[in-house]
Amino acid sequence: MNRKYLRIKCREAIMKCLFIKHVHLNNILKRAREENIEICGFLVGRDEGEKVFVDYIVFEKNILKSSHEFEIDPLETLKVLESAEKKNKDIVGIFHSHVNFPPYPSQKDLKGMKAWRNVWLIVNNLGQYAAFILKDGGVERIEVKLE
Ligand SMILES: [Zn+2]
Repeated sequence: MNRKYLRIKCREAIMKCLFIKHVHLNNILKRAREENIEICGFLVGRDEGEKVFVDYIVFEKNILKSSHEFEIDPLETLKVLESAEKKNKDIVGIFHSHVNFPPYPSQKDLKGMKAWRNVWLIVNNLGQYAAFILKDGGVERIEVKLE
């Protein structure tokens, strides 16, 4: 398979941390196990700089129905954004899964990260997960804390 992964040493960012509830992460991992395409969606909550809190998650359709890339309908994105704003919250991150690949950003993910400069939570169908941000032009892995 011609898939390029970034060969980057991810520095552990001490400053930033993603707080997510067990139930939310488990739901994402469960869906990732069940599907043979990449699953995706949004993390909605509060970004307090060093600490990013996930209050709820929203699953979205992968309109590409692909096992190696994903895309979310921009109109759906807008709906999530509007609904979050009404609750005084924000889209603090994007999650998606990899199928039989490690949960690290692909080249395409990096492009997406440049457009969506928030937390990228990547999981896979094997139950692995990791979170990343783009910082100073490079991908930095951040800590995930389960609540
Ligand atoms: Zn990816």
